[in-house]
Amino acid sequence: MTTFVCTKCGYEFKAEKKPDLCPFCYAPIHHLIPKKDEPDEQPQDSDKD
Ligand SMILES: [Zn+2]
Repeated sequence: MTTFVCTKCGYEFKAEKKPDLCPFCYAPIHHLIPKKDEPDEQPQDSDKD
């Protein structure tokens, strides 16, 4: 299962494969992006002056 996010309406849903349309607003497939299940993304300061 992958969690997809619609970039048009912000709707999140789970699906086994990438759907053709957003089930909420029916935005086309290019609005749907897989959501990464990463815990907390912490900014890295590797380039310190
Ligand atoms: Zn949508």
